[in-house]
Amino acid sequence: MLDRLDQQAPDALLALIKLHDADPRADKIDLGVGVYKTADGATPVFAAIKGAEQRLVDSQNSKSYLGPEGDMGFVRALEPHVFGEERPGDGRLDGMQTPGGTGAVRLALALAKKADVTRVFMGVPSWPNHAQILADVGLQAVAFEHATSDGAANMAALREVLANAGQGDALLLHGCCHNPTGVDYTPAEWDEIAGLLADSPVLPVIDLAYQGLGDGMDEDAYGLRAVAARVPELLVAYSCDKNFGLYRDRVGAFWVQSASAEVTARAISNAAALARANWSMPPDHGGAAVRVVLKDAGLTQQWQDELKSMRERIGAVRAKLAASSNAGGVDLTPLGRQKGMFAMLPVDKDQVQRLRDDHGVYMAGSGRINVAGLTEANVEQFVAALADVTG
Ligand code: PMP
Repeated sequence: MLDRLDQQAPDALLALIKLHDADPRADKIDLGVGVYKTADGATPVFAAIKGAEQRLVDSQNSKSYLGPEGDMGFVRALEPHVFGEERPGDGRLDGMQTPGGTGAVRLALALAKKADVTRVFMGVPSWPNHAQILADVGLQAVAFEHATSDGAANMAALREVLANAGQGDALLLHGCCHNPTGVDYTPAEWDEIAGLLADSPVLPVIDLAYQGLGDGMDEDAYGLRAVAARVPELLVAYSCDKNFGLYRDRVGAFWVQSASAEVTARAISNAAALARANWSMPPDHGGAAVRVVLKDAGLTQQWQDELKSMRERIGAVRAKLAASSNAGGVDLTPLGRQKGMFAMLPVDKDQVQRLRDDHGVYMAGSGRINVAGLTEANVEQFVAALADVTG
């Protein structure tokens, strides 16, 4: 039986890590994998998380099973940060913990499929796993262009999608810090999107994986909250893996908003059944650490300060890139307006290869860079390398 399986391509970004590690050049630059890095190239554990973990070590007296919904204290503690103070408190909004944002996306799309969604409109390029999960869940992905060539959101394409979509369709949107383009909707654009969705039967699915890494926790939730305020039904997939630095601990959450507490309860019962069939229950440790942080004012402040310094570092590198004048054939000014860790550069595969071979700059073949892989000290070296291969 098993010899009928086709070989699958390895994860290109993970292969890139190995190549980068083996490169002896001292001034090599890693812009590949999507984790935050300090100016020293480290991805440290947040001090607030370390503090919370210590409290868990001291106080946790059982690791017995939780249910498929995971740690509901974690979910409830996160809600004001994600949905704000205006969120419905009448049972129309409810959620559960998931194994990372990936588990949340999986659950959202599997639930959409169970509720008879057949097509999911999706701006491209997108996080590659979106298309893979859609295919695996058995939903048809319908692509539209997310960004214009001058690095803004392609609102005309989105308007056309919403004018032509109908019952049985869903729209998958990135809440902030779009991966891979960094091109986010402005607040005015989100207001328009919320209005269009309010008049449409299309089910919005918002993937918020980088809250706090763009302009701030509230600012980065603007779109989600604008849509939630206007539409009856909404699915939300959330990741704490970037904004709490918990990547391998797999911390995520999933929420349903519907027009009635009764429908939300039914939707959550279906999500719980899907979770049981997929992973039974999410891993506890990271979510418990986030709960401890969010229930303690001192740890919350410490986490917010740490998140702010990450955001400011990303912003400083973006500003420096945008201000650099000679990047050969590449205009870097849009990167100053874009948000989060990622940006797409208009480079082809040969130029990506030359950046690696001639300059020790490692980036995805698609042209995506992780801005957090740069420091204010090596931006000029990177820009010169880019000028060399594109000039
Ligand atoms: N959504 C998007 C857009 C992402 O970029 C990512 C992470 N790369 C995720 C979801 C999932 O994050 P995780 O499973 O690591 O929490």
